[in-house]
Amino acid sequence: MSAVDAVVIGAGPAGLATAQQLRAAGLKPIIFDRADAVGAVWRRHYDRLHLHTPRSLSGLPGAPMPAKYGRYPSRAQFVEYLESYAQKFDLKPEFGVDVRTVRRAGDGWRVEAGARSIDATSVVIATGWADFPNSPQWPGMETFAGPVLHSSVYRNAAPFSGQRVLVVGFGNSGAEIALDLCESGVAATLAVRSPVRVLPRDLFGLPILGFSVAQRFLPARVADAINAPIIRLAIGPLEPLGFKVAAKGPMRMIEEDGRVPVLDIGALAKIRAGKIAVRGGVARFGPHSVTFEDGRSEPFDAVVLATGFKPDLRGLLPDVKGVLDALGRPLVSDHATAEPGLYFVGAIASPTGQLRQIAIGAARVAAAAARRLRARRG
Ligand SMILES: Cc1cc2nc3c(=O)[nH]c(=O)nc-3n(C[C@H](O)[C@H](O)[C@H](O)COP(=O)(O)OP(=O)(O)OC[C@H]3O[C@@H](n4cnc5c(N)ncnc54)[C@H](O)[C@@H]3O)c2cc1C
Repeated sequence: MSAVDAVVIGAGPAGLATAQQLRAAGLKPIIFDRADAVGAVWRRHYDRLHLHTPRSLSGLPGAPMPAKYGRYPSRAQFVEYLESYAQKFDLKPEFGVDVRTVRRAGDGWRVEAGARSIDATSVVIATGWADFPNSPQWPGMETFAGPVLHSSVYRNAAPFSGQRVLVVGFGNSGAEIALDLCESGVAATLAVRSPVRVLPRDLFGLPILGFSVAQRFLPARVADAINAPIIRLAIGPLEPLGFKVAAKGPMRMIEEDGRVPVLDIGALAKIRAGKIAVRGGVARFGPHSVTFEDGRSEPFDAVVLATGFKPDLRGLLPDVKGVLDALGRPLVSDHATAEPGLYFVGAIASPTGQLRQIAIGAARVAAAAARRLRARRG
């Protein structure tokens, strides 16, 4: 069996960007996605979603997003962009193909994709994390009478009209879903267990991400120290609103813990106005109520778990050692890994935005795969 140049797994932003860069480097990648269209995950995100990162810093290599999309493109515009990106560069992913395993085969890789077995010189894993929702369990949860859904299946507030909804978790999805519910007249409460960091999406009329990009060569600790007074002024005190503030600044939080701070687009104002309630962590569920860690119980009709994702790639890479941590997360993304010819793109949080990081990682990984192919061909 002759080896293909590269297999790219995933036709989201990371897979498309890497395939485009591989093509630009002269390789002929095959792209697989288990879904039926490019950007499948973005097609199912909640309706009101806009990019939190500005258009100018979120484009994929070789094709900026059109200016008509405005500063923060909508979900639908981003899907349209991914479609036009694939078309422009003639990237033709094979859809409906679930890649089950990637294993070493000689000095290349064997990919079990649907009913096929393909040998490849390089494999790029761009599978994102959307297929790994983290849904914690609490005592009594099975007795709760209403729906308990993960944020990844929340679409809009319509099914919750007239209800009391608890949103568990205050990341970007939790903050925006609580805001969405509140703006639709639904009584929303946030359960927030961990200390938080919140940044304004815009500062002095400019996207905050632009400041992060300007400071990207500063040590995280130094950037945090410089920014702290300005952010405090822009955001206001969080403790009176019921939050605990993380000891680490936003840059350190991303760099050291891979946790992205909340970019506020309006939830804080609603909390300050008493329109969204904030409680501590969840302790247990009753049939019609939730008890918080401080012992207070409140009635709820539905619960949205904005509790993030826990990607675990051990199933995809059953025999490969040295590239995943104990939980199955890539140790290295957007660079060459310990295994020649095996790469991950898009698997790390970045202080300058994940889409921007994906564009950088795609170029780097494609260059490494091209060098490898040249070396193999002599
Ligand atoms: C709600 C939300 C909003 C976000 N907003 C922003 C933002 O504004 N700015 C920003 O920079 N980042 C943002 N991100 C983070 C990140 O940029 C996106 O999650 C982005 O879609 C990641 O791209 P990806 O290609 O790595 O993964 P995905 O978009 O998740 O694509 C992965 C693809 O791989 C396919 N796949 C997975 N496993 C297999 C398999 N075994 N076989 C075949 N196919 C497979 C999936 O079907 C999917 O199509 C956001 C994330 C979320 C959840």
